[in-house]
Amino acid sequence: MTSEKPDYALRITVGGSPAAESPEGCVEFHLPVDGSHLDVLEKSGLTSADTKTKTLVVLRENSLAALLVYAALCGMSSRTLDCEAGGTLCRFVNVSNPGGPQPEVAPEDLILLGVDLDFSEMLAGGNFMRVHAAKKVVLAGAFSTNPNLSSAEFLEIVQAVMLVASVRQRPGTGRYPSLYVSPVPDPSDEERIRQGDTSLLVDLEAARKDGGKVRRSSRTDDRSELMPPVDLTPRQRTLLAAADTDVERTLVRLNSHRNMDTGLWRCSRPGNHRNGDANPSSHVEDNKVRCYKCDLEPLDSLRLVVETLGLSPDDAAVWLASDK
Ligand SMILES: [Zn+2]
Repeated sequence: MTSEKPDYALRITVGGSPAAESPEGCVEFHLPVDGSHLDVLEKSGLTSADTKTKTLVVLRENSLAALLVYAALCGMSSRTLDCEAGGTLCRFVNVSNPGGPQPEVAPEDLILLGVDLDFSEMLAGGNFMRVHAAKKVVLAGAFSTNPNLSSAEFLEIVQAVMLVASVRQRPGTGRYPSLYVSPVPDPSDEERIRQGDTSLLVDLEAARKDGGKVRRSSRTDDRSELMPPVDLTPRQRTLLAAADTDVERTLVRLNSHRNMDTGLWRCSRPGNHRNGDANPSSHVEDNKVRCYKCDLEPLDSLRLVVETLGLSPDDAAVWLASDK
C-alpha cells in the first residue's frame, strides 16, 4: 500500500450516490450496496475483461455491505482489485512467499486473526505458511454490527482483508477471510466459531464466489462491452489479433476437418485420443473450439495453436499471421 496514485481507466464506486463527474479519461461505474449488486453487475454489460484495465473500486460507505460488494467485484475480476477505503488508496500487494522456501505446515482448520495484525508479523517466520495453509481464516476484533464505522476502523479492516487475501492466494483462486461480527465481542464466541458455528460470521469468500458466477455468465467476448481494453502494448495487440483469427480456418490449417453429418471437428491433437479422434468430437462456438477430451475450456485460435504445435504465444501469433 503506497501513496503513489496510479491512473485508473475504470472506477467502480460502491455506495453513496454516483459521482457527478469522473476523472478525465476514466470510465465510472456505480454499484449500490442494497444487496442488488449482483443483478446490477449482471445487467451492466461490465465484464471481467473491463476490469483487466486499471480498475479502482471506491468504497463510499464504511460498511460491511460495501465490503461484500467489493469481494464480489474481486470475484468477477478474478483478482483482488485496488480500492479506496476510508478515503485512503489501498493497492493490492502481491505477497509472494517471503524469505524463500518455507516449511510445509499441516493445515489448521481455523485461524482467528485480529484485524490489527501488521504486515511484518503476518509474514514473519511460520506465520505466512500457517495463514496460507489454514482451511479457514476469520478476522476478529474490530468489526461490529455498527453500520457507521469510522474511516479508520474501516480502512483497517479492508487492509487486513487484502493482506489475508494476498497471503492465501493460490493460482486461479483467492481465499478470502470471514469476518467475526458481533455487537459486543465475546471471547467465548471463539469456541463457537471453532465448533463450526457460522452464524457469527460474514463470509467474504462466498461473496467473492458469487461475483465469480457473474463473470462466468457474462460473455467476455461481447462486442458491446463497456469499454475497450486500454494501454495495450504492440505485443498485446498482436496476440489479441491472433486470438481473433477465424478458428475454423485455423483448424483446417492444423489438418483438422469437420464432420459434415455432426458438425463437429476432428481434434487438432489426435495423438491425445486413443482412436485418433476418428469420430470427431470438437465443438466450435463463438470462434472458439473445445475438444471434450483435451480441453477444460474453449480455446481461441492462439491457444489452439499453442496447444497443438507446442509454440510460445508469440511464435503462434507469427504462425497464424503467416496464413496466405
Ligand atoms: Zn482432443
